[in-house]
Amino acid sequence: MPTNPKSKGTWIHRFAIRLFTLVLAVLIFWVLGFFVDDIRSIPGPDYDSIEQNHLNKDLVSQRISLDTQIAALTRQILNQTEKQRVVGDSSRNLQQTINQLIDLQKLGLQKGIAFSETEQANFTSSLNIFLDNQKKYQELNQTVSDMLERKQALVLESEQAEQKLETQRQPARDEFNRLSERHRLELAFFQLAVLLPMLIAAAVVVIKKRSSIYIPLFLAFGGATLVKVVLVVFEYFPSKYFKYILIGSLLIVVAKLLIYFIRTIAFPKTQWLVKQYREAYERFLCPVCEYPIRIGPRRFLFWTRRTVNKIVVPGDHSVLEEAYTCPSCGCNLFEECPSCHKVRHSMLPNCSHCGTEKDVK
Ligand SMILES: [Zn+2]
Ligand SMILES: [Zn+2]
Repeated sequence: MPTNPKSKGTWIHRFAIRLFTLVLAVLIFWVLGFFVDDIRSIPGPDYDSIEQNHLNKDLVSQRISLDTQIAALTRQILNQTEKQRVVGDSSRNLQQTINQLIDLQKLGLQKGIAFSETEQANFTSSLNIFLDNQKKYQELNQTVSDMLERKQALVLESEQAEQKLETQRQPARDEFNRLSERHRLELAFFQLAVLLPMLIAAAVVVIKKRSSIYIPLFLAFGGATLVKVVLVVFEYFPSKYFKYILIGSLLIVVAKLLIYFIRTIAFPKTQWLVKQYREAYERFLCPVCEYPIRIGPRRFLFWTRRTVNKIVVPGDHSVLEEAYTCPSCGCNLFEECPSCHKVRHSMLPNCSHCGTEKDVK
């Protein structure tokens, strides 16, 4: 129970405290994020090295050499096809020339003009080149089809090797998954090893120092740590179990808060209230709304919690005491004592004239 009545402060102070509590919580959350990220950057298992342990090395090198051969063959086939195209073009040209020469010869025969020796020689050489070309074309054709056949055989072999490798990769993948899962759990363990002690420390401080004026600091620290822990746990552990734990804890916390507030409103702590009222009366402020109690010589003055000690009160103290109601909130502040019929404080337990006690609510 607080031993001193708490000053509520102006709204701007209360707002500032709430705002900076939030900012502090965000900053702490941020710092925790750095720790967690550093832990998270610990490297996990390397799939390539695991795969190397599982795959047959000869098979792998065979597969690589097959792929190299296939690539080389593909390149050769492309070259040969290109050559074939050039030879084909040249053949077509020659064929046209020969056709023209034949046409000329036919024309000459009709007109009775014989082919000259040079023309005859040209014709023969063109024909020879054409036949040579045709032969080359056929040869190239044969080479290309041989190469294609070889390539198909190689592709088949490579596919078979790949199938064998694939069956060997499955255990590698299983091992990788197993190691990854273990690594994940290790990361979660390290993160919680950093966060959980902090959370426990925060909880202890919040519970022990709950009446300290610095409680917003501890709450900011505790809140930020709690959120981080919840996020880490949510990320690493199967949510199907965790959601029950989370909703269970939330239910307990919310129920406790609700009970606390209901009780605070239903049973205000009398001692605390009296202290609050006393302090307000000392400053001539309404204990409920802090509006100045303007009675006697203070009737024409105005002050606040801070300026109350600075104002100069006129020396006329002859004014009689009278009952008084706060003009702002309507609470009775001074009333007639039922015992001595003088004016007493309505919200303090004892009459200042006769000492009669009353219940302060
Ligand atoms: Zn009032
Ligand atoms: Zn009295």
